Amino acid sequence: MTKYKLIIFDADGTLRYCTVPGQPCPNRAGEWKLYPDVVEKLAGFNWAGPGDESGVGYGIASNQGGVGSGYFAEDTAMDLLNDTFIKAFGFTPVEGTIQMCPHIPYSGCSCRKPAPGMLDNLIDLYAVDPSTVLFVGDRDDDKNAASNAGCHFQWISEFFNRNPEE
Ligand SMILES: [Mg+2]
Ligand SMILES: [Zn+2]
Repeated sequence: MTKYKLIIFDADGTLRYCTVPGQPCPNRAGEWKLYPDVVEKLAGFNWAGPGDESGVGYGIASNQGGVGSGYFAEDTAMDLLNDTFIKAFGFTPVEGTIQMCPHIPYSGCSCRKPAPGMLDNLIDLYAVDPSTVLFVGDRDDDKNAASNAGCHFQWISEFFNRNPEE
């Protein structure tokens, strides 16, 4: 694992789950929890922000189509991702390391996974080669985004040793 210079995570279904039955992702604070294996797993890495090569780079790339659909505000979605990051990693992320697509599906934007836009932004931010980057996710859109960005991919079953929908 340490061979990667940058590890990017999907959020929903990968780091956190929604606690509201029948709702795919949280719309407000108090509607999510981390999966129980996340903190311990992530604590095993020496994380380092952009420009700091003493450790592994970190990032989140999350589709938040609920913003475009009007379920919640873009600021709220970003705050929820920020809170998720802090709880998962134990520190405050450097600006730009949380990438979010607020657009509705099929809007033609360049950021919604499986498009590579968010992964490209993180790869540029860290100025690393895509071949040194790992993306971890739980959906085919994640796998295809990694492929489109030219980086490696692992399912949550490989990275966290956890089955989907747990
Ligand atoms: Mg997901
Ligand atoms: Zn987008």
